[in-house]
Amino acid sequence: MTTEIFYDGGCICRFVRYRMTTKPLFVHCCHCRWCQRETGASFALNALIEADRVQVLQGEVEVVNTPSNSGKGQKISRCPKCRIAVWSNYAGSGDAIRFVRVGSLDDPNCFPPDIHIYTTSKQPWVIIPHEMRSVAEYYRRSETWPKESLERRVALLARWKQP
Ligand SMILES: [Zn+2]
Ligand SMILES: [Zn+2]
Repeated sequence: MTTEIFYDGGCICRFVRYRMTTKPLFVHCCHCRWCQRETGASFALNALIEADRVQVLQGEVEVVNTPSNSGKGQKISRCPKCRIAVWSNYAGSGDAIRFVRVGSLDDPNCFPPDIHIYTTSKQPWVIIPHEMRSVAEYYRRSETWPKESLERRVALLARWKQP
């Protein structure tokens, strides 16, 4: 028997509280200009996880349509009171996969990046350790994600398509 571990988080004003019921599929540290502008900082740290593994424990999120790098937009889920973003859904993976803002977790140290992406626009003072995986832009999921995460994604897409 394994003990279940949850990863809880929320917004600044604590109106929204959520729970990731498992570890994420993969963690992106994105250095694109869009993420820099959105965070007002140097990169975004996003934990990708099946939408049905994120439970809203308290409050509700407001979904804001926001432009994105792909041109297809992203939906950012924010606290309706303090407006802090807790996760996004991108056009690419649709509503099935949430990009949880790691900084909104109670313990943001849990999930260091599995990969650094869009390092072409990385701010020059950010030094990525050379043993860390990093790519100039994006990557091929089939070559990069652990087998278990690829299997979880297949299972997710199968149940997501069901009416
Ligand atoms: Zn709030
Ligand atoms: Zn980005």
